[in-house]
Amino acid sequence: MNTSVEAQKTSTIWSNWNDTVRCRPRRIVTATTETEVQEAVTHAASANLTLRPAGGGHSFGPVVATDGIVLDVRMSGELTIDGARAVVPGGRRLYEIFEPLWSHNVTLVNMGELDTTALTGAIGTGVHGTGIQLPSISASLSAARLVAATGDVIELEARTDLMRAARVSMGMLGVMCETTIDVLPAYDLHETSFFGSPEQALEEWDELLHSNRHFSFYYLPNERATATYANIFPPVPSGTAGEICYTTIRNALEPGEGFSDVDSLERRDRMNRILTYTYPVMYREIEYAIPLDAAKRVFREVRNRLRDHHPSYAHPIDVRFVAQDDALLSWCHDGPKAIFSVPDSRDCKYDDVFADLEAVFCHHGGLPHWGKEHRLTAQRLKQLQPGFEQFREIRRELDPHGVFLNDHLRALFL
Ligand SMILES: Cc1cc2nc3c(=O)[nH]c(=O)nc-3n(C[C@H](O)[C@H](O)[C@H](O)COP(=O)(O)OP(=O)(O)OC[C@H]3O[C@@H](n4cnc5c(N)ncnc54)[C@H](O)[C@@H]3O)c2cc1C
Repeated sequence: MNTSVEAQKTSTIWSNWNDTVRCRPRRIVTATTETEVQEAVTHAASANLTLRPAGGGHSFGPVVATDGIVLDVRMSGELTIDGARAVVPGGRRLYEIFEPLWSHNVTLVNMGELDTTALTGAIGTGVHGTGIQLPSISASLSAARLVAATGDVIELEARTDLMRAARVSMGMLGVMCETTIDVLPAYDLHETSFFGSPEQALEEWDELLHSNRHFSFYYLPNERATATYANIFPPVPSGTAGEICYTTIRNALEPGEGFSDVDSLERRDRMNRILTYTYPVMYREIEYAIPLDAAKRVFREVRNRLRDHHPSYAHPIDVRFVAQDDALLSWCHDGPKAIFSVPDSRDCKYDDVFADLEAVFCHHGGLPHWGKEHRLTAQRLKQLQPGFEQFREIRRELDPHGVFLNDHLRALFL
């Protein structure tokens, strides 16, 4: 596990990782078997309570909060391997699954930067890493056992509309008690990083994007940002002033001996050790997926907005890339996208940098990450996402009384 901040749960208060979402549920129930999940769901339905499944609590938005039942899903049982697939008990944290996978000489296709999430939680919001050929982690889902609002178990199968709906569903179709995911033969990643100007990043972007398995960069908008994050990024080369980009490329190798060379900013290790970060501070974040053909224009607009309107904004903006996938609520339903993550301090006001940059992203057809903060309405999402209405129909059919809807989700998906 690489963060000390797990979601806090007491008998009466549930809060997410950074304590920006708090709720006082009637009960927090831990379920370790499918039968216990069924009992919790049928109890919630008969008592007219909302039930929300929780993973690691590492979402920024209110996707778990409820005044009904928070279900802490912790399925017991072993992770098993079936050829190029792994069968993973619901609620298993990513940091718990890498060793068992590696011992079978397999690993995940890709992942985000955090291993304290549950696999089911990451699937729930469509968590992604970076790589133009690499879709969200939810695209790896090939089968699942789902406890629906009736308490019945549905076995989800690949290439069905129900699977396309369930892949990114924020727990609205039911509780996933077991997931089967595609895995790859175990691989190391060789990583190289370097600093450069934003103009250089724009110039090299296309080439680096298409010639590396993983390509991403952080944009540090000013010297204050560089100084604030001096303990996270390596020292900026002398003579560099103002805006700067910190670019990272990574490519896969057969498992071998790892190394880390701090001078040349190069290292090699198992994929999960290279891709995960330790987050020393709590923050808030918005994140938008932008069509590739608009991404450079958006990057320039973000730079201009920050320079002209928010000169004291001092955080790194992460720019990553994600491949297309066919989940109904996927933000990459129509092609690969560039992803802009905008963090701000925990006590920031949404109406400041977030609202301003959200307007830029929305102007260019941006879709939000379901696990981050956003202010999009159902009407807007319906315009942008062709699968949105089909998802709502499937949800209504499976859960007509909204057992799995909290206020935030009801406003969008009823
Ligand atoms: C420091 C940090 C770094 C991050 N980095 C990335 C990143 O690199 N890439 C990225 O895409 N995101 C990233 N995120 C966002 C975050 O990882 C996601 O929002 C993720 O969904 C959180 O997973 P979790 O297990 O904590 O789930 P939770 O927040 O607990 O739940 C997420 C959703 O999944 C549902 N769910 C959970 N368990 C089940 C289940 N068993 N059955 C059905 N539904 C379920 C929940 O109801 C909820 O809707 C980051 C977040 C933080 C705090």
